[in-house]
Amino acid sequence: MADLQKARAVVDSFPDPETGRPLGAMEQVRAVQERDGRLAVEIALTSWAAPLRDETLAELREVIAAQSDWEAEKVEVTATELDRPAEKLGQIGVTAKSVIAVGSGKGGVGKSTIAAAIAFGLRNAGAKVGLMDADVYGPSVPHLLGITERPTASDGKLQPIEAHGLRAISMGLMVPAGEAVVWRGPMLHGAVTQMLRDTEWGDLDYLLIDMPPGTGDIALTLSQLLPLTGAVVVCTPQDVALLDAVKAIAMFRKVKTPVLGVVENMSVFVCPECGVSHDIFGSGGARQKAAELGVPFLGTAPINVDLRRRGDDGRMAEAYDDDAIAAPLLEITRNTVRRIIDRRGGAAATPSLPVL
Ligand code: ADP
Repeated sequence: MADLQKARAVVDSFPDPETGRPLGAMEQVRAVQERDGRLAVEIALTSWAAPLRDETLAELREVIAAQSDWEAEKVEVTATELDRPAEKLGQIGVTAKSVIAVGSGKGGVGKSTIAAAIAFGLRNAGAKVGLMDADVYGPSVPHLLGITERPTASDGKLQPIEAHGLRAISMGLMVPAGEAVVWRGPMLHGAVTQMLRDTEWGDLDYLLIDMPPGTGDIALTLSQLLPLTGAVVVCTPQDVALLDAVKAIAMFRKVKTPVLGVVENMSVFVCPECGVSHDIFGSGGARQKAAELGVPFLGTAPINVDLRRRGDDGRMAEAYDDDAIAAPLLEITRNTVRRIIDRRGGAAATPSLPVL
């Protein structure tokens, strides 16, 4: 008869993906029982951990099998939802568990598309997600999400627009379309501070911030306002874009924002007719550059005409409806969460991403 106590000890010491602390210490172990010769384990996980839920359960099962005398086939691990609200971050008081800046060295590389894709990837898994469009020069979040209504204010706070399950805010919703805004340093600082501080974000697992390309001003402002969890840098495989990406990485490092990793967007074109991959801009450059710079590589998103159409038609929420688009975007999303965990010192639940 396999030992229940030993199995219980293994489950107790298994790290919660969100906090890195043992499940037992966080009172997240609901049951470790024997039922008809099988081991039934039930743990509680927060919605923050939802994007890695399945792999966390699989990993726990393996660890139990490795460290107790229960065979993996006889172990069933399930999870219930644990509600643990976010705490206030920084002086600004945003209630989010992780704040991720998505940046690029130059415009047009698909930064906003990838920011929205990660936001939807997290949300589809069950996390509570906000998307703040800080790209004041070319706000494209309203366009991607198909929102035009202006945010209202109540009790001195802006109400984010609820769009397809995301809470979103953008300067593009506050400035009339087509009206150019010439932002000077202090105005820019003020606008971004206001969007972040004066928005009623509510309780969030993740807040994604779509950064303006290139400039370090907003990265500096944000890093002063709240502790950013990290930055995702988006680039295309072209050399010039890569050099820009190097600058973006340097910029985040300068303002002491950890770089979670690099995403190579529009890496290959898969012909919808014949299925053959074409390296239009060359591919693999970002992976190589990430390796040179000692930054993890989070994945590639191929050029996909349907993704462009959906984004341009305000239907980015449907990006995950198509498996060919969904798979690479989901991998980028999960790698981003895995990296947050790695940086925190790691939960055994997630294999460390190699610093390529
Ligand atoms: P940025 O935020 O870097 O300026 P956008 O996200 O606005 O870039 O993307 C620029 C254009 O490229 C948009 O028309 C978008 O739909 C398109 N695009 C982005 N990524 C892809 C992709 N992987 N496949 C096809 N089109 C893409």
